[in-house]
Amino acid sequence: MVTATVPEQQVKIGPTQLLINNEWVESVSGRRFATINPATGEVICEVAEADAPDVDKAVQAARNAFNNGEWRRISATRRGELLYKLADLIEQNIDELARLETLDNGKPLQESLGDLGLVIACYRYYAGWADKVQGKTIPISGPYFCYTRHEPVGVVGQIIPWNFPLLMQAWKLAPALATGNTVVLKTAEQTPLSALRVGELIIEAGFPPGVVNILSGYGPTAGSAIARHMDIDKVAFTGSTEVGHLILEASAKSNLKRVTLELGGKSPNIVFADADMDAAIAGAHNALYLNQGQCCCAGSRLFVEEKCYDDFVARTVEKAQQRIVGNPFDPQTEQGPQVDKEQFDKVMSYIESGMRDGAQMLCGGNRVGEEGFFIAPTVFADVRDDMKIAQEEIFGPVMSIIKFKDIDEVIQRANATMYGLAAGVWTKDITKAHAIANNVRAGTIWVNCYDVFDAAAPFGGFKQSGIGRELGEYGLQQYTEVKTVTIKL
Ligand code: NAP
Ligand code: MG
Repeated sequence: MVTATVPEQQVKIGPTQLLINNEWVESVSGRRFATINPATGEVICEVAEADAPDVDKAVQAARNAFNNGEWRRISATRRGELLYKLADLIEQNIDELARLETLDNGKPLQESLGDLGLVIACYRYYAGWADKVQGKTIPISGPYFCYTRHEPVGVVGQIIPWNFPLLMQAWKLAPALATGNTVVLKTAEQTPLSALRVGELIIEAGFPPGVVNILSGYGPTAGSAIARHMDIDKVAFTGSTEVGHLILEASAKSNLKRVTLELGGKSPNIVFADADMDAAIAGAHNALYLNQGQCCCAGSRLFVEEKCYDDFVARTVEKAQQRIVGNPFDPQTEQGPQVDKEQFDKVMSYIESGMRDGAQMLCGGNRVGEEGFFIAPTVFADVRDDMKIAQEEIFGPVMSIIKFKDIDEVIQRANATMYGLAAGVWTKDITKAHAIANNVRAGTIWVNCYDVFDAAAPFGGFKQSGIGRELGEYGLQQYTEVKTVTIKL
């Protein structure tokens, strides 16, 4: 692990108020809260703090736009044009947005730029879909003409996490707007800034008032007000499985709003001895350490076949020790700070639990530097399935390597979890690759690769990793209601 240093760069902070009905407003209570730079622990600025009354105002604006506004009447093609325009504006401001994301979240600038590539692609992908969402004509019995319409669900509440603020905003907004919904989006408390700057670009692109409303605020107040709101037709949530349960419960106790959930994971990444070892070692490293380990689909249970275990572990430790940790604005930096003190403490407590449970810590385990929330890339070997670090989502740069003997055993162990978000397999044997792909219960399987994302490929979880899919054509279904129309001939 190497430490990088570069002087702080100028970052332009965008709006810090709530976006409601295309206007920037303070919260009803007048309260504001601080967002910090995780690389230093210092306050960047304060933003308006939304609570239930602000959610009411935003929902009213969104409802009005959905029922009566210009949005209701514009063509599907025009919705697509607006999304293309938004993508262009984001592209024109890519450097500014990347710096803002890095400042607020701590991820290396190179990764913010990488995220922004996916953000722009996502808006363009769904821009293209806007006028291609079609129903069917159905040959029912009798003298009738029957067809379906795919209509927008209505007012959609969207709650996003802090690990990929701009990308999660795009995954949520793009399909919702392409299909004609209106939106009330709540950002994560740790990372409100980039989404608000995109709010400015949404106005500039020409979206009518009330179509997109953006609220910064806390989960138990603003987030919960969205989840239980009687006039929100659907909620799309990305975050922890724990809060996912609360969202579903709030829907059940309010108006049965549609719920889609993208939740946590403890994804198995399986390395067979016949794999291209260089690719497997690099792939397993990136699968775990990307984004400071703060990925829902991190390959956080690394199963390695007995025959190659010792060599794999030695080379993996060497690679982890070479990872460059430091100032996220330095172009050399591969790993920045964890997002805040709470996450930092949580990750450190998992490291302690790994040591207590008898896993072998081969590198890392310590804080890096005096300020900010940096953690050295950590590798545990000889991890057993029943240890906490093999069961729970750590969401930090902590790798758990687990030994296995054969394919049937590893499939059974890979599936022994409440999660089912993603999995990876590294092998040159096509039969083994298919056996893993067909038998591991997860929403995404990567073969000889990992974290390959594309706006066209659906993503989401089996089991307690979620409900529904985002991205691709499948993502559209979650934002439309099917209406059947039957006409007597
Ligand atoms: P989190 O605590 O569940 O927060 C996610 C969002 O929910 C935040 O906006 C949060 O607001 C809000 N929230 C918290 N409590 C709420 C409540 N009672 N009612 C309504 N909303 C509430 O998760 P996190 O720690 O920010 O994010 C990490 C988690 O997200 C991990 O488990 C990760 O696996 C998961 N994740 C999943 C995916 C996926 O696609 N499956 C993608 C990224 C992340 P506050 O900011 O105020 O807490
Ligand atoms: Mg911050």
